[in-house]
Amino acid sequence: MTRSATETDLGRTRRARRIGRVLTETHPDAHCELDHGSPLELAVATILSAQCTDKKVNEVTPKLFARYPTAADYAGADRGEVEEMIKPTGFYRNKTTSLIQLGQALVERYDGRVPDRLADLVTLPGIGRKTANVILGNAFDVPGITVDTHFQRLVRRWELTTETDPVKIEHEIGAMFPKRDWTMLSHRIIFHGRRVCHARKPACGACTLAKLCPSYGTGPTEPAAAAKLLKGPRARDLATAAGVDPELVPAQAVRAEAP
Ligand code: SF4
Repeated sequence: MTRSATETDLGRTRRARRIGRVLTETHPDAHCELDHGSPLELAVATILSAQCTDKKVNEVTPKLFARYPTAADYAGADRGEVEEMIKPTGFYRNKTTSLIQLGQALVERYDGRVPDRLADLVTLPGIGRKTANVILGNAFDVPGITVDTHFQRLVRRWELTTETDPVKIEHEIGAMFPKRDWTMLSHRIIFHGRRVCHARKPACGACTLAKLCPSYGTGPTEPAAAAKLLKGPRARDLATAAGVDPELVPAQAVRAEAP
């Protein structure tokens, strides 16, 4: 479809919810892709995920979590040792500073525990609003919208918002969906951004949202060309869901990591 200049707010909200329903069917496996077993581990993993793939973070964290199980362990950690352990995630000096300061702040102000309120979380070193929402949604079951780069790109392509400021996007999109859906909606949008609606070449011709998306045609619409752009272990299922022959998805696309 092309965007109707006359689409009302109600019409846009209805289309947003239809997009949400299609995404629920398209990505039944959507989840937080950062491995964690506690709020502290998720906070640490999220800090490490800046400018780094979740896969790389997940390779580093098992040893890190075992070595530093509590906030006090980070507070008193040896800098060089932390740097060495998290080096593969990039920007390791800044990230080490954040982890040690996070540990110190948690010990000093929150008795070593990660707080469960947005207002408290955003005061912590290394934790911005996006990270805070990831922690709330996934470690505390408090609904949160995570406006990362994928989320921003997709909701703008869907013309659900024209905002560029993440906080405004969060509020505008949040108002279109029931609060209880916010966390899973975020995962599904991010999943779609990583596997189908890529920044450079979105797989429009193999996308389940083609009929609801005003940006259909931004990427190849021809099924064979689009199917090659799908990524991840469910790439063939994604093609089938979009009505495209799964055999058109090459083996390397199935093996490819979603970025
Ligand atoms: S139709 Fe194209 S631009 Fe729209 S969501 Fe699908 S892949 Fe993205």
